Amino acid sequence: MAGIAIEVENLKKAYGSLEAVAGIDVQVKEGEVFSLLGPNGAGKTTTVEILEGYRERTSGEVNVLGYDPARGERDFKQRIGIVLQSTGVEPYLTVDEVVELHRGYYPSPRPLDEIIEVVELTTKRTSRVGKLSGGQQRRLDVAVGLAGDPELLFLDEPTTGFDPSARRNAWAMVKNLKALGKTVFLTTHYMDEAQNLADRAAIIVGGRIVAEGPPATLGGRDEAATKVTFRLPPEAPLLPEHLHPDVSSSRVVQLEATEPMRTLHDLTGWALENNVELEGLSVARPSLEDVYLELTGEPSDTATGQAVAEGAKAT
Ligand code: ATP
Repeated sequence: MAGIAIEVENLKKAYGSLEAVAGIDVQVKEGEVFSLLGPNGAGKTTTVEILEGYRERTSGEVNVLGYDPARGERDFKQRIGIVLQSTGVEPYLTVDEVVELHRGYYPSPRPLDEIIEVVELTTKRTSRVGKLSGGQQRRLDVAVGLAGDPELLFLDEPTTGFDPSARRNAWAMVKNLKALGKTVFLTTHYMDEAQNLADRAAIIVGGRIVAEGPPATLGGRDEAATKVTFRLPPEAPLLPEHLHPDVSSSRVVQLEATEPMRTLHDLTGWALENNVELEGLSVARPSLEDVYLELTGEPSDTATGQAVAEGAKAT
């Protein structure tokens, strides 16, 4: 059974009268990718910096790899890797030189070739840092974080500002880290990132954790009803009553399906029998973004499209 890498109990941090972290509990297992999600000002950076030993807490218990980070022990610092939102590594050195330089600071660094491979910079080893793209520089930051072969890596918003292909590369890298058995604590604003990478995620709002669990079940996502939507042609006969159809004036029908397979079976059977075309048929589970927006109270103007696409894939 995997051990516990991070254990936090009733952690609080106040800045004067502002309670930025208002009593949170977090547990991260060894080898797990854990994501802390939340809107601006929710308390993510405060929490992460307390875990890294860079900020003092007001109260609560914090145990990271068996250490209290507040004590700032050297051993602790050598066992964790920190990748900040932007680190300025030396622009005139090559990729290999930068990683080699940082390996020199640790008693038992990870082999250079392995680090380069994990961050997928094999073709850029002799390139100067200043010539790398933003995404490549960010992966080099992670390489630096890996130099000392830490057991636990903190990644703070690792893909903010990336184009889609750079994000995919960064995701591949996080998967490589997981394959190596590293524990990863990731903060992000992106729901799809948490969905793709995290074994478990927690949503923090106003210094409190409002939902926690695997992305697929977060906030009761898995239990929420699936929505089946389609448009009926004007001449179509009445839908069977047991489907509880809710038909709008534009003949758009939305069914809330707690047993989507059965509902679809009944619906498509009825349509075939009556030769009715179900225009624009879509099946949608609430996306992680829907859940997030509901829990954080943010406006939901971008969520629908993703929900439909994702729901269609999921069924
Ligand atoms: P973002 O996504 O914008 O980085 P965050 O979730 O990381 O936000 P924090 O930076 O932890 O949020 O901030 C939480 C709250 O604490 C905010 O209201 C912030 O203004 C406040 N805060 C953070 N650092 C300090 C500080 N050093 N002194 C006073 N208030 C602070």
